[in-house]
Amino acid sequence: MLIITKGSIDECNTKHAQGGIAAAISSIDSPELHFKDTIAAGAGLCDPEAVRILTEEAADRIADLVKLGVPFDTVNGEIALTKEAAHSVPRILHAGGDATGERIEVTLSNAARASRAITIFEYFLATEILVKNNKVYGVAALDLRSGTREEFNCRNLILATGGVGRLFKITTNPDIATGDGVALAYRTGAEIIDMEFFQFHPTALRMPGVPLFLISEAVRGEGGVLRNVRGERFMKKYSPQGELAPRDVVARGIVAEMKETGANRVFLDVTHLPARILSARFPQIYRFCLDHGLDITTSLIPVVPAAHYSMGGVKTNYWGETNVEGLFASGEVASTGVHGANRLASNSLLEVLVFGKRIVERTLRGNAHLKATPSPDVYTLKKRDTSDINDTTLNVTALQSLLWDNVGIVRSGKELEEAADTLAAWEKQLEPATDRPSYELANMVTVGRLMAEAALIREESRGAHYRSDFPNASNAWLKHIVFRKKAAKSQK
Ligand SMILES: Cc1cc2nc3c(=O)[nH]c(=O)nc-3n(C[C@H](O)[C@H](O)[C@H](O)COP(=O)(O)OP(=O)(O)OC[C@H]3O[C@@H](n4cnc5c(N)ncnc54)[C@H](O)[C@@H]3O)c2cc1C
Repeated sequence: MLIITKGSIDECNTKHAQGGIAAAISSIDSPELHFKDTIAAGAGLCDPEAVRILTEEAADRIADLVKLGVPFDTVNGEIALTKEAAHSVPRILHAGGDATGERIEVTLSNAARASRAITIFEYFLATEILVKNNKVYGVAALDLRSGTREEFNCRNLILATGGVGRLFKITTNPDIATGDGVALAYRTGAEIIDMEFFQFHPTALRMPGVPLFLISEAVRGEGGVLRNVRGERFMKKYSPQGELAPRDVVARGIVAEMKETGANRVFLDVTHLPARILSARFPQIYRFCLDHGLDITTSLIPVVPAAHYSMGGVKTNYWGETNVEGLFASGEVASTGVHGANRLASNSLLEVLVFGKRIVERTLRGNAHLKATPSPDVYTLKKRDTSDINDTTLNVTALQSLLWDNVGIVRSGKELEEAADTLAAWEKQLEPATDRPSYELANMVTVGRLMAEAALIREESRGAHYRSDFPNASNAWLKHIVFRKKAAKSQK
């Protein structure tokens, strides 16, 4: 197996995961309960079979991680479990307190480096999926150190390129999350689904001059409360679950409160929790804040919502196969159907493991037409008249501001039209890409268009997708929006 990655192997979203990984492994839990919570979070759009696979195979995949040496935290010799929003029981495993992703990433990349069966090429940017007769035969990549173009031939290609958070001005995602895999797959003719469903995390640290930093959901799970700038707790106004309501509800509650108080932040208050528990349970958060002059055991933490996780992506079946023969998608770039309209916290690391393993099993079973059945009803991006678009300055900052302002936490038809028109105008301006920034920018424009157009088509509010002009869910929209290049049906 050959792995190519555009940075060093440990530049990825996985390394930044704090809260943990969900799995029903305790005596008071069961895959059925985990299934129920996941389906409830997904707001009517989860694929029940995919969720069944996720929740039933979870314990075995955790056992694999333990065998590989991931040092999960324990209490009295048992794996320690915490609770997060919308989980009905404590079921989140963590490692190194809030360093779960880092511990998993380091363990797995060390194992990959040590394996004779795996070769790793770092600083190679995948730029094109090579396809003939709707069948993959390789991938083109730019060697970022020499600037030369290389082609790698393969029978099966697994996209595992992560998320799209860098499309937004305020995000928890690292630099690599520019949606490359979704853009590459779309250009290849793969189906892209659920792009309107993007999760905003309610609580990222916002301090002047300090890089944005996630304050894990688990902090609220352990008893942290939200206060507005007047010091008032407010979440009960927006949900009976208070601070442990689903992420979209908490994020919108914070936005409403910021608007009402005229402030650019709210506060997360953990000062009532024992200091030694905070520093032991959240060592990374505690240390990061302290390094920037904020002692969370005595001071309120200023927070804002931030772009976080893409539920949508490359459509796959239960074996990670796409509609393009030989092309697989795994992890955040994929949309397996487990998240529906909203992801249950800590289900994404689990999805990577469960469906990643299935992909490997599938590819080892030979090469007999490994592909998913195409969707019967798909959209294609419509041509937009961009002649009266005035602001045509395309750069990453402008794109991130446009997505944040117009395709963000609260959307409207007018703002989405504006975003879609501007992105279409930018698409026409793109010069042929030559280096990492120009390839990434082109990918971000494509992915931004898919997000804006999908959000425009879905005239309702559901899960993480909230339209101020259609604030309610509609049964007519209990269906998915799938895009495919050169599809038969054009966007309305
Ligand atoms: C701050 C933060 C906290 C989180 N906390 C949690 C949590 O507690 N629990 C949970 O379940 N989930 C959490 N998530 C989400 C979860 O971490 C991600 O969904 C998951 O790690 C994605 O894994 P992945 O393998 O799909 O992608 P990644 O881990 O992001 O890996 C993608 C890799 O692809 C490479 N790549 C991208 N494009 C190209 C290209 N064109 N060519 C070559 N290589 C490329 C990247 O360099 C990177 O190495 C969190 C995310 C963030 C950002």
